[in-house]
Amino acid sequence: MKTILEIQKLDRQIRSLEREVDNCQASVDFKNYKKILQEGKARFEQLETQASEIIKNYNIAQTKFSKNKGNSEIVKKRNTDNIDLENISSLISDSNSLVGELSEESRKIEDLVRRSEEIVRKSAELSKRLTDAKMRSTTIKAKIEAKRQEVAPKIAQIQERIKALEPSVKDIEKYEKYKTIKSNGIFPVYVPLEDVFCGGCKVELSLNFIEKLKTNKMLQCEHCNRIIMFE
Ligand SMILES: [Zn+2]
Repeated sequence: MKTILEIQKLDRQIRSLEREVDNCQASVDFKNYKKILQEGKARFEQLETQASEIIKNYNIAQTKFSKNKGNSEIVKKRNTDNIDLENISSLISDSNSLVGELSEESRKIEDLVRRSEEIVRKSAELSKRLTDAKMRSTTIKAKIEAKRQEVAPKIAQIQERIKALEPSVKDIEKYEKYKTIKSNGIFPVYVPLEDVFCGGCKVELSLNFIEKLKTNKMLQCEHCNRIIMFE
């Protein structure tokens, strides 16, 4: 067991070196830029949807506009062909309402054009921001890689020491268990009993569990799956 705990100590050193890479400023920056890129992509999709909505509305407005323009031609024609006193006022009011509708549609079209321009402007800004972020993320990636290269020989050295220790492991079964639990992302694997708490997850253990632990000397924590040792 002593050798396994020694190996665990070395594994802890490896983990802390790996964390050095994960927590270095460049890694933090990289995560941030990745977030910017993801948000930018979502924003682009939003702009795209808005743009196609505008195009659709523009086409509807344009069709209505041409139709009304056509109607007004008919009114003009009617005006010249058969003017009589009885229907002249109704023709004038027809004309007026057409002019009203036309300017309403024309306003809508102007509004759509204005919104499209806004989208074009926003897209260009976004595109610039994303290009910047992407460029910086390439530089940052290189920095992370450099950091990784820096710790790699240290990790290799520790791994060598572990390999050298392995032949002296007496309890193969316990060591296999150690490796399995560790590969499930649980670390450290073997933890002490701390008063009435698990030395790993700090959960309070039942009296029943502690009694069993005293008898067995080792028991897996039901909360975090680490193996609690009773010395
Ligand atoms: Zn636990």
